[in-house]
Amino acid sequence: MGTRSSRRSRGQVKKRAVRAGSEENYPVQQDSRSVFLEEFSLGVRDMTVDALVSNSSVRSLHEVMDEAHRVFDSACNGVDLNPELACRRGCAYCCYNQVSLSQAEAVYLGFHLLDSFDETALKALNGRVDSVLDAIRGKSVEEIGMIRHELPCIFLDDGSCSIHPARPFACRGWNSVNAGDCRSSIENRDPFAPVENHSIVREIAEGIQLGLLHGTRNIGLEAGFLILPRAVKLMHRDGIAECATRWLAGDFFFAQSRGL
Ligand code: SF4
Repeated sequence: MGTRSSRRSRGQVKKRAVRAGSEENYPVQQDSRSVFLEEFSLGVRDMTVDALVSNSSVRSLHEVMDEAHRVFDSACNGVDLNPELACRRGCAYCCYNQVSLSQAEAVYLGFHLLDSFDETALKALNGRVDSVLDAIRGKSVEEIGMIRHELPCIFLDDGSCSIHPARPFACRGWNSVNAGDCRSSIENRDPFAPVENHSIVREIAEGIQLGLLHGTRNIGLEAGFLILPRAVKLMHRDGIAECATRWLAGDFFFAQSRGL
C-alpha cells in the first residue's frame, strides 16, 4: 500500500482544530471523501448492521467496537509510513482538544470507565468535565476549536491518555510526523498552524467512524457526532447502563448532551 504524507491546507487544518468534526465538518455523506475512506466506511457500516440488527445488546456493541479497533490496527499495520510518525507516549500537544465521537464510541468508552476508574477517579473526572463544560457552554464547534490550546482533554493525565484502549477514532487517526509542528500550534496559540501528517491514517479512522455512524443510523439508532465531555457528563449523570439501554432501544438519548 502506498504512502501519503501531506502538508495540510488551511481548510484541512480547520478540521484539525476540532479534532474529528461535527455534523458541519464531517457530514454523514461520502460524496466528497476518498474512495479509500469510503471502503472502510462501507465495510464497517455493514459489519455494524449485521451485528446489531438482530441483537442490539451491549455485548454485540462491544463486539462491533472490538472489531472496528482490529480493522484500524490491521489497516495501519499494512501502511508503510515514511516519514515515521512522531507521536510518542508523553507527547500530548494534540490532546489539547475537545474530541468528537459517535454514540457507539461513547457507550464503549462509558463501560471502559466503569471497569477502569474507581470512585475517586470518577469524581475527579467529573470535576474536569464540569470545568470544560463551563468553558465551552454556548460555543459552536468552531469556537471551541479556536480556544483548544486552553482546554486539555478531560482524559489527559500527566501527559498520557488515561483511556488509551477506549480512545475514540478521532484520536487513533490523528497523527504527526513533526512534533515541533504540534508544539508550535499550542505554544503560539494558533489552531490553524499546519501540522504535517499522514492523511491515510486519518482516512482509515474517519472511514471507520463514519461506518459506525451509518451502521447504527441504518438500524434506527440515534447517530451523530457528540462532543466528548458532553457525552461523558451525560453518562456520569444518568449512568452508563441506562444510557446504553436507552440508546440501543432507539431513544434519541444523547441529543440532550447538546444542552449541557
Ligand atoms: S481521549 Fe486520550 S488521546 Fe484522545 S484527546 Fe483525550 S487524552 Fe488525548
